[in-house]
Amino acid sequence: MLKVENINVSYGSVKILWDVNFHIDEGEIITIIGPNGAGKTTIVKTLLGLIRSTAGTIKFYGDPIHQAPTHQIVKSGIALVPEGRELFPRMTIMENLQMGAYTSDEREDTLKWVFNLFPLLEERQKQSAGTLSGGEQQMLAIARGLMSRPKLLILDEPSLGLAPIMVNTVFEIVKTLNSQGVTVLLVEQNIHHALEASNRGYVLETGRITLEGASNELLDNNHVKEAYLGM
Ligand code: ATP
Repeated sequence: MLKVENINVSYGSVKILWDVNFHIDEGEIITIIGPNGAGKTTIVKTLLGLIRSTAGTIKFYGDPIHQAPTHQIVKSGIALVPEGRELFPRMTIMENLQMGAYTSDEREDTLKWVFNLFPLLEERQKQSAGTLSGGEQQMLAIARGLMSRPKLLILDEPSLGLAPIMVNTVFEIVKTLNSQGVTVLLVEQNIHHALEASNRGYVLETGRITLEGASNELLDNNHVKEAYLGM
């Protein structure tokens, strides 16, 4: 579905990503883990065309997208739920959802699907986003991402700052979406949860992929255990 080959990204003269390679097959849940500043957000911004790579290719269903404009990338079936949610706090839930739907021709059906997944958002559709709890805001951010009917949903640190019970809910939603045919790329610092929820994972360290494998193998890997799981 997605093939990233030898991507290099710099901010000015500072190189952040070095020959990054990874792929996602349709139907998978993939996790990219790594410490603060490793370049995880830079990867997802590059996938969406928000930052341009200086070298390398990104193909989605075989089509190169590394030079495509963001709106076209979204239309082709990739959506990002950004780190920190980036909702419009003074707008209502419904207005935030409509902002996510600007490329969708099937808005009503999509809204029904999204409200079915998140009944609370339907009940509260006139409430302003800024007055929602952190967990509810994360639900809205995911729901907004779904409004463009993505085939690949990218979630950048969805569990950041959430209470443990909400963290569980977020990972349950990821699994539900995946069972409904949405392929998922998770970028997470909540490594245990993320690897438990995913099929495969990649470890990104100082801008390079240093380890990859089945999630259960990574959970059992000594470097992952020592560096990320405090074991
Ligand atoms: P975190 O887990 O803390 O969010 P991350 O792995 O997502 O980290 P990035 O946000 O991709 O890391 O940042 C990678 C590096 O790029 C960091 O050193 C960061 O300071 C730097 N960086 C990010 N954005 C910019 C920018 N706009 N200009 C210059 N440097 C940047």
